Amino acid sequence: MRLPYFRLVKGILKNKIGVQAPLTLAYEATAACNLRCRFCSFWKRQRGDELELSEVRDAIAQAVSEGASFFAATGGEPLLREDIPQILKFARKRMLTLLVTNGVLLAERIDEIAPFLDFLTVSLDTLNPSKYKYLRGCDCLEDVLEGISAYEERRKKYPHLKFNINTVLMRETLPEVPYLLNFALKKRIGITFEPVVPLTSDASCENPPEWGSPEDFNNALKEILRFKARHPATVWNTDYYLKWILERKNFICRSETLIRMDACGNIIAPCYDHPSYDVVGNIREKRLSEILHSKKARELHESAHKCPRKDCYLMCYVEPSLVISSFSLAFRGLASMFMKLRA
Ligand code: SF4
Ligand code: SF4
Repeated sequence: MRLPYFRLVKGILKNKIGVQAPLTLAYEATAACNLRCRFCSFWKRQRGDELELSEVRDAIAQAVSEGASFFAATGGEPLLREDIPQILKFARKRMLTLLVTNGVLLAERIDEIAPFLDFLTVSLDTLNPSKYKYLRGCDCLEDVLEGISAYEERRKKYPHLKFNINTVLMRETLPEVPYLLNFALKKRIGITFEPVVPLTSDASCENPPEWGSPEDFNNALKEILRFKARHPATVWNTDYYLKWILERKNFICRSETLIRMDACGNIIAPCYDHPSYDVVGNIREKRLSEILHSKKARELHESAHKCPRKDCYLMCYVEPSLVISSFSLAFRGLASMFMKLRA
């Protein structure tokens, strides 16, 4: 068992007894993207002066000093960054590492990144090439499937690596759920589902995503729960997260458990979806500790505790928040994590 797991357990327990401690550094490795998803406008953004390798390493070291045990590289598309293997190598000596990719470049780059990853997630919402092209703006499904095959061929070479696909639940992808569940089962990989959350920060998107009818949405969730009961090692979402979405209960969002840093070193609080989200500092100008403990950051995270959004199901915020809210969920969350490690 790697050391950061113990730090993660310690971080969860600290938050449980009221000591605010970040668990995760979520880093947008680059704002660039090689897809043109119709429900996203990130790819239209101007790219700024993105952090260099030495600056990213410094930010990682500072996040570790703050107690974070998990490093998640996202984008844009993180595999567009040449030095992503060096970033992951540095991070994995100190933290658990995850990379989330659209998978288009995975077959090409998997051997560069796999040695330095604990978790690798590929976004995949459909197995239908024309629907993929419609949703993602690129005729690239074949490339993504090649990336998944590249992982399958290397399963024994990288036994430490846990691999899953992640499906965004929205109107167009609800009918795809049974196919994707069976695909993951057949391939012996994990699958997670996350309802789409139209981003406050993405108001310029021309085709904001929709959930579909409540009936279709709930039926898809029930199907996932039934499948999970039969194949717990395939569906990686916790059952309490899936049931919580189904019941749409209130929760206290603990956004302070996640440090969100964009490609240029801006620290964002509480999250991109909160109506008053803002940049609370830049890692080039201030120490992370000073930024995280600033009045503005504290106030924004406190506002997340009473977040007005009732349509937010972001896994990276909701799961830790639910875990911290109850001892029984903390136990089940940790048990599910250790089960995943043994799978
Ligand atoms: S959703 Fe992700 S993969 Fe698609 S355009 Fe936006 S950043 Fe790129
Ligand atoms: S509930 Fe939390 S993660 Fe969701 S929008 Fe509000 S602050 Fe952000």
